[in-house]
Amino acid sequence: MGQLSLKNVVKTFGNFEVVKGVSLDVTDGEFVVFVGPSGCGKSTLLRMIAGLEHTTAGDIVIDGKRVNDLPPVKRGIAMVFQSYALYPHMSVYENIAFPLRVEKAPRDVVEAKVRKAAEILHLDQRLQQKPGMLSGGQRQRVAIGRAIVREPQIFLFDEPLSNLDAALRADMRIELTRLHKQLGATMIYVTHDQIEAMTMADRIVVLNAGFIAQVGPPLELYHKPQNTFVAAFIGNPRMNFLPVTCVGASAAGVEVDYQGQRLTLPVEPRPGIEGAPLTLGIRPEHVALGPAHAAGGVDLRVTPSVVEQLGQQTIGYSSLPGQEETFCFVLPGTRVIEDDKPLDMGFLASDGHLFDADGQALERRIDLAAMSVAPALG
Ligand code: ATP
Repeated sequence: MGQLSLKNVVKTFGNFEVVKGVSLDVTDGEFVVFVGPSGCGKSTLLRMIAGLEHTTAGDIVIDGKRVNDLPPVKRGIAMVFQSYALYPHMSVYENIAFPLRVEKAPRDVVEAKVRKAAEILHLDQRLQQKPGMLSGGQRQRVAIGRAIVREPQIFLFDEPLSNLDAALRADMRIELTRLHKQLGATMIYVTHDQIEAMTMADRIVVLNAGFIAQVGPPLELYHKPQNTFVAAFIGNPRMNFLPVTCVGASAAGVEVDYQGQRLTLPVEPRPGIEGAPLTLGIRPEHVALGPAHAAGGVDLRVTPSVVEQLGQQTIGYSSLPGQEETFCFVLPGTRVIEDDKPLDMGFLASDGHLFDADGQALERRIDLAAMSVAPALG
């Protein structure tokens, strides 16, 4: 079992409240990723679960047992850090075996567990080498092996891939996802990298200044962000935000005015919303060439001042009338466009998001379950 409950957990350092009442239930076998900007409290929260930080208030419960006052070794967890924290003078074998040696496990048990972990992590051929002879990715695998032999209820990862280059990170991401499937263990993973969060998590917890901004499966966060913080944080390049005014609500959704153009977004209306200033969110990948007004969307005249041709996609950055923020669009890489040349572009109302003056989303009427059925080729 590897169930975790956080009940209104608070952490203060002196007068500074870093974690401000976080509640969360993690089920056995789940892969949960804590993500958020630097300083939002994600590492502190993980360290509290591990028992490396005292919990100021609230309860941390693992498999039904309150563990606030238990030392790390008695919590049934194993933690993997960004710095691999290996012993340089010991072989890979001895590094992986270390926690078992501390427990004074019998020699044959140590042998069996180390061999099994090494096999899972493709380190069988490296067991006699010292960490100095390994690549960053291999060293991190040794650190993970040291966690595996402890057979913890919950694995805790604190930015384990941050020291690796981009290619190794991508490889290790896939390996960690495989490892999770193979072990079926509960994993809690801290990162500021949203690609890691989107690709590995069963559920993502987005933290903002010590609070949970939203918890959900990756695609739910992408398609139904509950507030502008999550909308801007999930997705790259980030969502564009345009000021609009609500002109009415009907069974079809909420009608807004954007610089004289009217469009109805399929979102749940709220009482008294008419006349309110709102924010329309549109992701750069949902902006396309050509007019969209006839299809119920918005037309835009966009003159990109910077164009990035990445091969698989073309990204443009432009200013829009009456707006300080840079407007961004993403087109297929086959579209070669020039900077400083005006383009007629648009987006559809059905791709838009709507937020109130407090940045809270009006719920989009999209069926995520139906979206999971991919169309067949041809
Ligand atoms: P990063 O991605 O930069 O690691 P994070 O979200 O993991 O950020 P934390 O390391 O949890 O952030 O830190 C949250 C806040 O708590 C930061 O402002 C940090 O300065 C503060 N903090 C963390 N540890 C301590 C400490 N021991 N004493 C005082 N303040 C601390």
